[in-house]
Amino acid sequence: MRELTFIEPHRVEFRERPAPRIEAAGEALVRPLAVSRCDLDFAIAAGKAPFEGPFGLGHECVGEVVEVGSGVTRVKPGDRVVVPFQISCGACERCLKGQTGSCKSVPKMAAFGLAPFSGTEYGGAVADLIKVPFADPMLVQLPAGLDPVAAAGLGDNAIDGLRTVRDALARAPGAKVLVAGGGAASIGLYAVAAARTLGASEVVYVDVSEERAALAERLGAKAVVQKYDDALKVGRFPITVDASSRAEGLKFCIASTDVSGTCTSVGIYFEDVALPLLHMYTRGMTFVTGRVDLRRDLPAGIELAQKGWDLKTVATRVVDWEHAPQAWLEPSPKLVIKR
Ligand SMILES: [Zn+2]
Ligand SMILES: [Zn+2]
Repeated sequence: MRELTFIEPHRVEFRERPAPRIEAAGEALVRPLAVSRCDLDFAIAAGKAPFEGPFGLGHECVGEVVEVGSGVTRVKPGDRVVVPFQISCGACERCLKGQTGSCKSVPKMAAFGLAPFSGTEYGGAVADLIKVPFADPMLVQLPAGLDPVAAAGLGDNAIDGLRTVRDALARAPGAKVLVAGGGAASIGLYAVAAARTLGASEVVYVDVSEERAALAERLGAKAVVQKYDDALKVGRFPITVDASSRAEGLKFCIASTDVSGTCTSVGIYFEDVALPLLHMYTRGMTFVTGRVDLRRDLPAGIELAQKGWDLKTVATRVVDWEHAPQAWLEPSPKLVIKR
C-alpha cells in the first residue's frame, strides 16, 4: 500500500510499504477518510523540528473500520471513528488515571505518524490502512452529524486547543481569554473557537499573520496583528494561551496574565526558554504545559463539536489524496487530506 512518507525537510512522498494485518486480539484496521496536518507536522516538514526520516506521516484522522480482531466489541466494520494520535491501552495504571498520553504498555510517546518520538513505527495516517492496536479503548465513534473533514483535527490539535481553555473557563465562567497565535497555528484557532463556545466573554487573538488573525475574527475573537515585543500591550487576562512557539510570544502571554490567572503553553519549544519566575511568583499565576491526554478528552471534544464548536472554519485547505505530497509542504493554517 502507499503511505505518505517524510524523507527529509522539504521532501515528502508516497512510498510503498506492506499493508498492516490483524495479528493479535483487540486490534482493528482503519481506512483513513480525512487526515489533517498537525501543526508539528508542518514544523517537521519545514525542517524546524529535530526529526529524521523516513517515517510515515499523518496522525489526525477520521476513518472507517474495515476489520477487527477477536475480542473487539465496541466497534465493527463500517463504523466511522475518530482515531486518537496517541497509542493507549486503556488498562494500565496511567490509562486508568486518564494519563492516556503516557500509556505504560507502549513505548514513551507512542503515536501514529511520529515514529521518531517513540522509536516505533505505528504507521502514518495518510495511507490506505492503519492498524489500531487497542481498538476498543482507543477508537471513538464519529456522530453522524459531524463532517469527517472538520472532525479530523479531533485526533490531536483540536483537543489540544480545547484543553487550554476548558478547565480554566470551568473555574472562571465567562472569563476573558487571550490567545497568542503563531507556530501552533491551528491549536490557537481551535482554542479561540472553543473559548467562544464555552462562554468566554471576550477573546483577544494576537498574531503576526493577517490570515490567521482574520480566521480568529471569524471565530469570534478580537484580533490584533502585531509582532511580539515589549511594546505590545493588550491588557491583562485571567486565561492566556501561548500557541506562538516563540519565546517572545510566551513572554508576552506571561506578562499579559492577570493576578491568579492561568497561562497554558502549547507551542513546542525544542530549546530551553527562560521563564520570568519572580514575576510569575509575585502575580501568583499558574503555568501549564505538557502533552495532551488525547483519548481522555476526546469524548468531551466530540460533545462540544455537536454543540457548535466551530472546527470547520479552522480547516482552511482541503485537498484530495493525490495532492497530499505537494500540499503537505505548503503553508496553510490547517490542511486536510480527503479521500
Ligand atoms: Zn500532532
Ligand atoms: Zn495504558
